[in-house]
Amino acid sequence: MVDLKRQYEKIQQEIDAAAIDVIRSTQYINGPEVKAFQQELESYLGVKHVVPCANGTDALQVAMMALDLKPGDEVITTTFTFVATVEVIALLGLTPVLVDVLPDTFNIDPESLKKSITPKTKAVVPVHLFGQCTDMDQIMQIARDNNLYVIEDAAQAVGSDYLFKDGTAKKAGTIGHIGCTSFFPSKNLGCYGDGGAIFTNDDALAQRMRVVVNHGMETRYYHDSVGVNSRLDSIQAAILRIKLRHLDQYAAARQKAANYYDMMFKDYPGLEIPARSPFSTHVFHQYTLKTKGVDRFGLQKYLGEKEVPAMVYYPVPMHMQKAYDDPRYEKGDFPVSEALSESVISLPMHTELDEEQLKYICANVLEGMEACKV
Ligand SMILES: *Cc1c(COP(=O)(O)O)cnc(C)c1O
Repeated sequence: MVDLKRQYEKIQQEIDAAAIDVIRSTQYINGPEVKAFQQELESYLGVKHVVPCANGTDALQVAMMALDLKPGDEVITTTFTFVATVEVIALLGLTPVLVDVLPDTFNIDPESLKKSITPKTKAVVPVHLFGQCTDMDQIMQIARDNNLYVIEDAAQAVGSDYLFKDGTAKKAGTIGHIGCTSFFPSKNLGCYGDGGAIFTNDDALAQRMRVVVNHGMETRYYHDSVGVNSRLDSIQAAILRIKLRHLDQYAAARQKAANYYDMMFKDYPGLEIPARSPFSTHVFHQYTLKTKGVDRFGLQKYLGEKEVPAMVYYPVPMHMQKAYDDPRYEKGDFPVSEALSESVISLPMHTELDEEQLKYICANVLEGMEACKV
């Protein structure tokens, strides 16, 4: 699905030198590379504060801890997402409230969100799924009307631009009260291990989050609140500094591959190409097709035999997962998410796809669609 090796080989000298520099410096934790990366990411995103942390899941957890949410508070997110979002809500003793997504962008359905707000609702976590921003004009309006915090899950959309109705633009993750991202290797801005970051324009929230990620400690060995240990290490920060300089060019490579896929699949009746939102650029964390009239897992197997990887993100929505089995929800409650989980398939998407590979992938997808017709 990704080709991290070829991407690395193009920047190998720079990366190797940066990693060795950190090793020789012995400043492995909270070294100068972490601070430098933090500042460079702040300036790339146009956000006041970046708080680096250990991974994207921690970023979400720290955000919710810093907002001082209490057990019983309700946090709304989508059922068609990666589990991390729902997991941290549950871990903190908060109540996850699930809502459906829109059939075209796979992002939160603002109407479904509005209907799910109760007096206990404290926050909403829009997930910018697959690389494209949620309709943030609407989400922020709903949040203002109902006094909710907005925590953007930008793990799949870092670098994408949200275009406001007034013509201005902001980067994914910098619009709500807090934004979260992941630097997992296969993410658009990936390091060579685990990493994550939290964004905010709010000074007080930034300060609280810096305390939370550091054991709730402001003055050394004085702990005013319960915190966690969540750090980005210096080697990862040094690698991310280099990769950040390539991020826009990486997004362009992904968009180019997506355009090729679009061209090859747009007229094929059994396939629906990903919708392009009018208010967001798409950085194509995933290229996800909706299929019709095909045995989708058969297609996946067919492609596998041709050495074309294909994945189903996500085969089971959160309200149908064993771990989140909840008497409030049953099959049928979220028809859009359920239909998507039964029809989507994602193709290889990364920065190193060349025309020959794309041609091979597309030819096999189209042959597979015929071979696996139902
Ligand atoms: C990857 C991802 C996360 C979690 O990031 P980790 O760094 O793996 O903890 C959270 N939310 C979404 C939508 C993701 O894709």
